[in-house]
Amino acid sequence: MKLYLLTVLSIFVYVALPLSTPPVSGAEAKTPKVLLIGIDGVRPDALIVADTPNINQLIASGTFDPTCQILGDRYRENNTVSGASWSSVLTGTWADKHGVHDNSFEGRNYGEYPHFFEYIKAAKPEAKTVSLVSVWRPIDRYIVSAADIRDYVPLAGVRTTNLNIPADEVREDTRDGEWHHLLGLRRGGKVHLFLNGEPVAETYDTAGDFDLKGEVYHIGRDARGDRLGLKGDIRGVGIWNRALSESEIRTVAGGGAAAAPVLFQEGTPAQKETPLDGSLRGLTRGDFTVSAFFRTTDTGRNILMGNYGDAPGGHLNLELHTDNRVRLYVNPTDEEQADRMVREEQSDGTVADKAVDVLESTDPTALWVYLHQPDAGGHRYGFSPKVPEYMQAIENVDRHVGRMVEAIRSRPGYDEEDWLIVMTTDHGGYGTRHGGGHDIPEILTGFLLVSGDAAHHRISPEQTFIVDAVPTVLKHLGIEPDPGLDGRPVGFRD
Ligand SMILES: [Zn+2]
Repeated sequence: MKLYLLTVLSIFVYVALPLSTPPVSGAEAKTPKVLLIGIDGVRPDALIVADTPNINQLIASGTFDPTCQILGDRYRENNTVSGASWSSVLTGTWADKHGVHDNSFEGRNYGEYPHFFEYIKAAKPEAKTVSLVSVWRPIDRYIVSAADIRDYVPLAGVRTTNLNIPADEVREDTRDGEWHHLLGLRRGGKVHLFLNGEPVAETYDTAGDFDLKGEVYHIGRDARGDRLGLKGDIRGVGIWNRALSESEIRTVAGGGAAAAPVLFQEGTPAQKETPLDGSLRGLTRGDFTVSAFFRTTDTGRNILMGNYGDAPGGHLNLELHTDNRVRLYVNPTDEEQADRMVREEQSDGTVADKAVDVLESTDPTALWVYLHQPDAGGHRYGFSPKVPEYMQAIENVDRHVGRMVEAIRSRPGYDEEDWLIVMTTDHGGYGTRHGGGHDIPEILTGFLLVSGDAAHHRISPEQTFIVDAVPTVLKHLGIEPDPGLDGRPVGFRD
C-alpha cells in the first residue's frame, strides 16, 4: 500500500502543474455555491499523467489529494464497488451507516443518512439543488434525493432490451406440464411480457427499430439448434407486426384468434423454420407481438421461438429461461462492443450539456454531476495509465469539466459568487476489475480535489477519504456538518 501511494505522490510532484498562490482574501460577502463532480473509476496515477488541462487548472487552484482512500480506518467491510462508494461520497458516511455494501443497494439506510442535498434543504430551504447522472442509473434511482432539478441520461444509442423475469415475479409455475401462454410485445417504446393473458413485466425499449437477421425464423428453438430448444410441446404460435390490444391478448391467451398475423401456426409446429423475408424480416421495425402456447416440465432454458445465434445482431427471442424465468430478448446489434466508448462519451457529453444549461439559465446553490466513462473504459480495456482507451476516457471527461468551469466563470453574477468545485471518484481499478479490492492499493486509492478561492492551493498535507467530500461542501455553504457524518471538511484556508 505505502509504495503505491508514494509512487502516486511522486508522479504528481514531478508531472503536475505548480500550484498557484491563492488570491488575497477579500472576505466580502459573496454567495457560496458548490459543484460536486463525481467521475467513476479514476485512478489518480492515470489522472496525473493524462492530458487534462482543465482538471490541472482546478488542481493548481485547490487542495489535491492523489491518495484519497475509498474505505475508512473505522469501517471497511463493504465491497469496493460503485453502489457502496458513491453512497459513502454522497452521504459523508461509511457503509455501516448508509447501509449499502454492494451494487444491490439492499440494506440502504438513506432515511437516516441521506444524500447531502437533504442537509442543504434543511438548513436553507430556498437553496436550489441539481443532480445530473450519466449512464449508471442506480445513483439517480436510489441515492439522490431533495433535488430541485434532476436528470438521468442513459447510455446513448441502441442496445439490447432483455426482459428476463424471475419465477417469483411470474407467480405461476410455468413448468408444471400444463399448457401456458406466453406473449411478448413492443408498444410505443416499451416492451411487455404477458403470461396467460396477464401482464407480468414491462420495461423501456432500448433496441429501437431494426431488421431481423439470418435466413430463417425458428419455432421451438433458435438458430443455435436443439440444444437450448423447447423440451416439450408448442402450439398456437402467433406473430404480428403490431402490438395486440389488452383485449386481443386475452382473446389469444384464451385460444381465440387476433386479426392479421404475419405468421400463425395452430398445430404443433415444433422445430419449424419459416423463411425470414417480407414482413417477418421487418417485424422489429416498429411495434410487434410474439406469442405461443407451451407445455414442459423442464426448468432450464427452453426457447419458444427466435433467431438468436445466426448472424451478428438483429435478433428477437421469446424464451423460457433458466430457473423458471420467462424472457423477451430484443437484440439489435452484436453487443455493440466496438462503439461502446463512443456512446459513453455521448452520454457524458449530454450530462455536461445539461450542467452548462443549468449554470447559464438558473441560479443553483449546489450541483452534483456524475460522469461515467472512465469506469467503462477500465472494465473493457483495463484500469491503467498504460491503457490508451482508459486515458482517452479521462481526457474526454476533462473536456466536459472544462466546459462546466467555463459556464461557471461566465455567469453574469460570477464576481459576487464564491464557487467551490469538489471532485472525487469511487474507486480505482486493477486489470479490468475493482470489486473485492480490500488489499489492492490501485483499487482503494482515488483522489479528492477541493478547488476555489476558499481552498488552500497545495497538495493535501493530510490523508483524505471519500466521505470528506460532503462535509467540505456543507461547510462551504455555511452549514455545520451533522455530527453523525464520518468525514470532515478538508482543504479550506481557514
Ligand atoms: Zn464505480
